[in-house]
Amino acid sequence: MKNYGFSELEKDLEKLRGKTEVSVIGRSALGRELFLLKIGSGRKKKLILSSIHGREQVTSLFVMKSISQLEKVPEDTSLFIVPMANPDGVEISLGRDVPLVMPKDFKPCLFKNNANNINLNANFPYCFEKVPKWRQGGETPACEKETQAIISLCEKEKFSSCLSLHVRGSCIFFRDWGNAQVEHDFALAKSISDKCGFDLVAPTKKAEDYSGGFENWFRYRFCRPALCIELVKDEVIPYSEMCEDFFRAVNWDKTKNLFSTYLNFHKI
Ligand SMILES: [Zn+2]
Repeated sequence: MKNYGFSELEKDLEKLRGKTEVSVIGRSALGRELFLLKIGSGRKKKLILSSIHGREQVTSLFVMKSISQLEKVPEDTSLFIVPMANPDGVEISLGRDVPLVMPKDFKPCLFKNNANNINLNANFPYCFEKVPKWRQGGETPACEKETQAIISLCEKEKFSSCLSLHVRGSCIFFRDWGNAQVEHDFALAKSISDKCGFDLVAPTKKAEDYSGGFENWFRYRFCRPALCIELVKDEVIPYSEMCEDFFRAVNWDKTKNLFSTYLNFHKI
């Protein structure tokens, strides 16, 4: 598949209707639906979120491929998935749409923010005063509709944990110095790293790096594990070619185990 944007996602969701609950938790700045999938009906709720950064649409393709080969969700668990948290950013990075607020040096294929040119992963209400200007987290915390929709979802469902999927590094960020240790954070990260071949990253020290982040906010708000997983190792694959070279880009032989490892981690 050459690209994986909003229309490709919509087509895949159409195929899932009837088998999987599909709903809408909000709309993006340009009015695109923010979809939510729910698989299973157990009381323990787990969340996976992808494409919070526009140019990282390979993470949406990854979750949809993972769903298609998912055998079963444990009886006590429900899996919630936000497959494209930043659909405007994805479409802009594919050259199919343009931002409302134009960045200086605009290069579509490297675009990671939302249509208001705000980095959603620096827009969450956690240590927000420490978000440096260069991270483009916006003027006020949760000023963006996409951020608000994700926060409302988390407040409503009280997830036991979450995974936020990104692209660069083939590694897992599982802790930051602002939140310190959260129960089972290391054990969860270690089990996923063992099965999928990701490196574990030392806890993030600097507030300028962890402030405003989704997973950092989740740890702060719920005191439960929230991992940032960077799926792609090979730094030589450009963003625009990752979907086309999907199996190599995400190291699928290993990372295809991500969903089952997460779902079968019973401590959370
Ligand atoms: Zn990212």
